[in-house]
Amino acid sequence: MIQTDALVIGAGPVGLFTVFQLGLQGLQAQVVDVLDAPGGQCAALYPDKPIYDIPGVPVCSGRELTQNLLRQIAPFSPGCHWDQLVSSLEVQADGRWLVSTERKHQPCQQFLARTVVVAAGVGAFVPKELKLDGLGPFLGQQLFYKAPPPELVSDKDIVIVGGEDEAVAQAVHLAQACQARSITLVYRREVLQASEDTLAEFAVLRDAGRIHFQAGQITGIQTNDQRLTGVTVSTPDDQTLNLPLDLLLVFQGISPKLGPVAQWGLAMERKQLTVDTASFATSAPGIFAVGDVITYPGKKKLIVCGFHEATLAAFGAAALVHPEASTVLQYTTSSALLQQRLGVL
Ligand code: FAD
Repeated sequence: MIQTDALVIGAGPVGLFTVFQLGLQGLQAQVVDVLDAPGGQCAALYPDKPIYDIPGVPVCSGRELTQNLLRQIAPFSPGCHWDQLVSSLEVQADGRWLVSTERKHQPCQQFLARTVVVAAGVGAFVPKELKLDGLGPFLGQQLFYKAPPPELVSDKDIVIVGGEDEAVAQAVHLAQACQARSITLVYRREVLQASEDTLAEFAVLRDAGRIHFQAGQITGIQTNDQRLTGVTVSTPDDQTLNLPLDLLLVFQGISPKLGPVAQWGLAMERKQLTVDTASFATSAPGIFAVGDVITYPGKKKLIVCGFHEATLAAFGAAALVHPEASTVLQYTTSSALLQQRLGVL
């Protein structure tokens, strides 16, 4: 159980900037994201695209913005918890929030937080599932939506599903770094959609017979004695073939699921949280919300708007945690207190 002043749900740009503003307010924060790395949409959907409307930054990529935000929050040493989904929030008798997360292959993590800031964006990013009858029980044993543990790979027949960067890069990585028996990439189209460098490496390995490629759609599975033994592929020329396998790796991209946020009993309008725009408080005492997950008159889903919301939410959280503290506005340029917190004095 981790006790904290503030728990931030979501490590997108707005969640990360919230951690910074909470730090300026003297609040210790923990930040949780279901993804295995911070950055939210910027890192997961457009890491290399240029962003032109961050104040004072004429241009930066989604990845650079994330890296700069991480540098900015570093002085406050927040606790960072990736790869876990915040699933439940329960108010305690003393007004604190018991927050539980779900982690794969590990017991859940619990936090006891005096305040919570929901910065869940368009929802938790989760891998797009391969929807086939009977596949579910093999998850984590023979079916993976991320790189499998290295010890599982050696001497195995591996089928990788997907045709974009992550899938092609994974096929290349496994062919170069692991002792798999066979690697077959299956994609619904003949043309793969990865970066030039990755495609070039893929072509070399394919010519050398170390990776096979099969265009087609996976339509079924074969099992034997509770083991997944193969998949059925329908090819573009209407053939059906069976590919034997030991491991099935699926990399079809990610999609957002609002999921648990909608089940926390917070007031919502059209699947977004409603807030008081003076402090970005939600309908539950001690829970604030910022960024793409909220709605209010005039709301724009822009990073700069989220940064403003994060600033006021941090003031709101500080007023709850330290009601005795002075409310005189302080500037980072001149406040010794803020500079001490930033570690620059
Ligand atoms: P997000 O970035 O969506 O991050 C939310 C995070 O919360 C995610 O990482 C998610 O996994 C996590 N999460 C959600 N629920 C849970 C849960 N229950 N447990 C754990 N984690 C959870 N905006 C601009 O201002 N300028 C631009 O140029 C611009 N270009 C864009 C280009 C594209 C292609 C896209 C898609 C968006 C663009 N945007 C741009 C919009 C901008 O990216 C969003 O406004 C911004 O990312 C919102 O930040 P956020 O932190 O609120 O949410």
